[in-house]
Amino acid sequence: MILTVTMNPSIDTRYSVDHLVIDDVNRVTPAKTAGGKGLNVSRVLVQLGDDVVATGLLGGHSGAYLGELMDADGITHRFTPIAGESRTCIALLHDGNQTEFLESGPTVSAEELEAFVGNYADLVSKASCVTLSGSLPKGVPADTYARLVAIAAETGVPVLLDTSGAALDAALEADVKPTLVKPNLTEINGLLGTSFTSDDLSDLRQTLAADVRFAGIPWVVVSMGAAGSVAFHDGRTLRARAPRIEAVNATGSGDSTIAGFAHAIAAGSDAEEVLRCGNTCGTLNAMDPQTGHLVMDKWDEIYQGVEISEL
Ligand code: ADP
Repeated sequence: MILTVTMNPSIDTRYSVDHLVIDDVNRVTPAKTAGGKGLNVSRVLVQLGDDVVATGLLGGHSGAYLGELMDADGITHRFTPIAGESRTCIALLHDGNQTEFLESGPTVSAEELEAFVGNYADLVSKASCVTLSGSLPKGVPADTYARLVAIAAETGVPVLLDTSGAALDAALEADVKPTLVKPNLTEINGLLGTSFTSDDLSDLRQTLAADVRFAGIPWVVVSMGAAGSVAFHDGRTLRARAPRIEAVNATGSGDSTIAGFAHAIAAGSDAEEVLRCGNTCGTLNAMDPQTGHLVMDKWDEIYQGVEISEL
């Protein structure tokens, strides 16, 4: 099975109004999903037909409700219970804009974190691939993903890391490296202090090779939205270009890409298939109004249409 980790899940709530009326009543019908980047990954893996187990931290009545939402999505879940209440995040779609309200979520105690790490180690021993996605909740040290990477590596299970900020910094500084990291162009420019664009990637390979933080990571994939991605793997630079599509909602395309990578890596696919699968999932998510959901009936067309070239 593929194990997905969501440390700070959320009841993602979407309100849609044609026009937002400020300082007055706006009547809405909410759409609620089990959110957090790892749960987007999980939903896509279910669509791909993978055996998925989602884990992380869940608390309170919101946590119980999140469990029900996961059940409805067909996601098997083995979360560690915590005392704090899991969060709610609100996306307000109005006037052609998306305005978001993101709760920071509960504070996790040291004991709760240790209980989770025990649960995680147990699940990792049964997994063929692990994904670690999103931010860490309050109370969880920044080096926690580095620790989770080391536990997976000890068991010989590939581990895909998709996070940013201090949690990513700590994982990149650690001795044991993840199998794959997938910063987007903005994130990699932030990490390297560069200003690469999808049209000018000429020195990216050399810049990454000169940066000791990326040494020993088998897959460094830089995703570039509609421009596709570029992957550094096994001494090769592979550029993937997705076919031109009508993007409906690209939120969650990075998470869908991670799901595609996990699916192909767990299946033992070759490098080009891994890249093709990840880009297909990112693109099919952008074509679907729901976050972390693929337009599966376009699979063959997009999968065949992704162009992979060696730079
Ligand atoms: P993130 O969501 O992490 O910022 P990206 O926006 O780079 O990630 O998207 C991840 C992948 O999803 C891209 O590499 C690409 O394959 C696909 N994708 C995203 N947006 C689009 C789009 N508008 N058209 C086609 N593919 C897209």
